[in-house]
Amino acid sequence: MKILVINAGSSSLKYQLIDMETENVMAKGLCERIGIEGSKLNHTPDGGEKVVIEKPMKDHADAIKMVLDALTDGNHGVISSMDEISAVGHRVVHGGEEFTGSVIINDEVMKAVEACNPLAPLHNPANIIGIKACEAAMPGVPMVGVFDTAFHQTMPAESFMYGIPYDLYKENKIRRYGFHGTSHKYVTQEAAKMLGKNVDDVKIITCHLGNGSSITAVDGGKSVDTSMGFTPLAGTVMGTRCGDIDPAIVKFIADNKGMTLDEVDTLLNKKSGVDGISGISSDFRDLEAAEAEGNERAHLALSMFSHSVRHFVGAYLFELGGADAIVFTAGIGENTVIIRRDILKGVEALGIKIDPEKNEKAIRGVQMDIATDDSKVRVLVIPTNEELMIAKETEALVK
Ligand code: AMP
Repeated sequence: MKILVINAGSSSLKYQLIDMETENVMAKGLCERIGIEGSKLNHTPDGGEKVVIEKPMKDHADAIKMVLDALTDGNHGVISSMDEISAVGHRVVHGGEEFTGSVIINDEVMKAVEACNPLAPLHNPANIIGIKACEAAMPGVPMVGVFDTAFHQTMPAESFMYGIPYDLYKENKIRRYGFHGTSHKYVTQEAAKMLGKNVDDVKIITCHLGNGSSITAVDGGKSVDTSMGFTPLAGTVMGTRCGDIDPAIVKFIADNKGMTLDEVDTLLNKKSGVDGISGISSDFRDLEAAEAEGNERAHLALSMFSHSVRHFVGAYLFELGGADAIVFTAGIGENTVIIRRDILKGVEALGIKIDPEKNEKAIRGVQMDIATDDSKVRVLVIPTNEELMIAKETEALVK
């Protein structure tokens, strides 16, 4: 079975065509600047050169058409006809409380997804446009929605409720939802395999550390707490997002800087985090280079990041009553030796010991256990693969 995975943004559309027999990515690519002048498609067939096709795409329907043309092209295509695509798996950012798992999309589901739009006004409408464009271009092909929030719907109320008037939860749906669910679920399943145990029998703390970061406590394969909240702004310090701060700071900035609430929102989402602290970059490669040259604010930003991740790992260790494994994944989790070391430094008394040599050797793209042989808690570096997870969920539903 061949499954097309689609991640539609407001002006972009990422795709992968995956052969589920081998889990091989047959082709992948990205449509950029949809609806904007200078739109183009980057398409890379497995084992082949990247092809860049510059052509106007006035909307997502044009983009999907270009993707299907590229996939079936005589030169750089990988299938002879689009009939070979059995189903399409769509990443959908917000499923609210409605969606506790992936679903086959029909009119009723579509309405329920649209009802979640106010919870993710920048993302969900774009995801829906992507689904509609695919439905129009591929009539009869099953579409599946895979939600970033669904994995966290198993959290108990004491984890997801905020200490604000109950009516705001009931009427306005204000609660912790959590994000990166597809990634947390994928690495949880891979971690259980690495431990040689059933996922129902393990307690795992998963650290998805990328441009956006979130930590999740997983008990028996179920998310029981997570660091992101009502939006992805909460939790750890991130690339450009502030993470948890005293909520009173919002009004204080607005009053003292003469900023509107929208401006404060942009400041906290786009100009904060390690970028705002260092004044250099949100990219950890730049920050590590600057720190190595003695830049103190880069050092502060990196220390704050590690500290905030430690804070959640520690809390979740307590919540779970211990853990079988701590997992690092995503751009930072898979690549930064020093950050992994700093997050878990000085906790040997809790049975968590990183082997410095193994930590140094962990390279992106490879699963590795970097704990010492006598560490009670395993420390795993697991490359995330959200597209494969979406494809697996899609396959399971359409089979
Ligand atoms: P992601 O959101 O998972 O794609 O992660 C992207 C982030 O990972 C980048 O902004 C960098 O901060 C970080 N990253 C990626 N590669 C490296 C690397 N080799 N060393 C340090 N940080 C990296």
